[in-house]
Amino acid sequence: MSTYSLHDLDQIVIDSLASVDALGTTEEFRERENELEGKRSPFAILQKTLGSLDADGRREAGARLQNARAAVRSALDAKWIVLAKAERDATLERDRLDLGDTVVSAITWPAEAGHSGLVASTQRSLEDVFVGMGFTVADGPEVETDWYNFEALNIPPAHPARGMWDTFYVELGEPETVLLRTHTSPTQIHLMEHAVATNSLPIHSVMPGRCFRRDTPDARHLATFHQIEGLVVDRGISFADLAGVIETFTRAYFGPDIESRLRPAYFPFTEPSAEFEITCTICRGDGCRTCSQTGWIELGGCGMIDPAVFEAVGIDAGEWSGFAFGFGIDRCAQMRHQIADMRALIENDVRFLRQFA
Ligand SMILES: [Zn+2]
Repeated sequence: MSTYSLHDLDQIVIDSLASVDALGTTEEFRERENELEGKRSPFAILQKTLGSLDADGRREAGARLQNARAAVRSALDAKWIVLAKAERDATLERDRLDLGDTVVSAITWPAEAGHSGLVASTQRSLEDVFVGMGFTVADGPEVETDWYNFEALNIPPAHPARGMWDTFYVELGEPETVLLRTHTSPTQIHLMEHAVATNSLPIHSVMPGRCFRRDTPDARHLATFHQIEGLVVDRGISFADLAGVIETFTRAYFGPDIESRLRPAYFPFTEPSAEFEITCTICRGDGCRTCSQTGWIELGGCGMIDPAVFEAVGIDAGEWSGFAFGFGIDRCAQMRHQIADMRALIENDVRFLRQFA
C-alpha cells in the first residue's frame, strides 16, 4: 500500500484533478473514480492517519481532507457530464447511420423471437422463491382509492408520512380520492378484507406489482417501478419469524454468501419496523461506490403489522398477529445483474434487452 503524507495533500489534489481531466471514456471514469473515492484512495489512507494527531490538528486536517474530497468530487461530476454526453452523441450518430439506405437489406428473416423483459423475469424468479417458501401470489389494482393506499394503512390525511410519497392523483375529493398506488401495500388490505369476509385466515402471500410516484427518474429511481410485498397473518407470529423469512429469501435469491441484516426504522403500518439490508452484491461487502463504501445495500422495509391496520380491516389483534415486508423488484434486478442505471430497465434499448434473453 502506498504511503501518503498530509503535507502532500495539495499536490495529491492537483494530480487527482489532472488525472480526472485526462479521462477519455466513461469506463476509464468509473475505474478512476473508484481509485479516488474507494478504500484505497489517498484520501481514505490519509483519513486513517488523523487518529495520531491532537484534537486541533485532527480538526484542521479533517477539514482540509474534506475540502480535498469535495474538490475531486465536483471535478468528477463535471467530467461525467461531458463523457456521458459524448458517448450518447456517438451512439445516436451510429444509430442514425444504421437507419440509412441499407435498412431494408438489414432486416433478416426469420425475425428474432421476443422474450420476457428483465423486470418480468425478475418478478417471476422472486415469485418462485417465495412459492418455494410456502407463499401464494396475489394481485391487486393499480388504481386505488385513498382509503386503500393510505388510510387503512394507518396513514390518515394529515399524517406527516404522506410526505414520504409524492402521489399521482387521478381524482381528488368527492365521493372519493382516486390515485395511482404508490406502493403494493393496498393489496394487503384487499387480502385481509377478503380473508375476513370469507373467514379464510391465515394469510401467507406475496404481492408483486407496478407502483407510481412522482419521482424524477435517475440512476436509482423511476416514476414507474415494481415492488413485491409479503404478508403473513397467523396465530403466534413473532419478529423472529419475519427475520427468518428475510434471511431465507436473501440466500435463496442472491446466493449463500449474501447476508441480510435489519435496522430499526419507522413505517406507519408496522410496529416495530425495520429496514433490511443485504451484503452489497457488487463489491461483496468490501465497499464500493454503489454501497457508499459500507458493504451493505438497503433493499426494503418490514415490520410487525400495526394493530391499527388490523382494526381497519376487522381482524382481532388479540387473536392474530403478522408481519409484512416489501422491496423493489427493479432494485433486485439492478443488484443481481449489476446494472448501473435503472433507467435502462424502461428504455427498451434492444442491445440492453438482448443480454437477458
Ligand atoms: Zn459495494
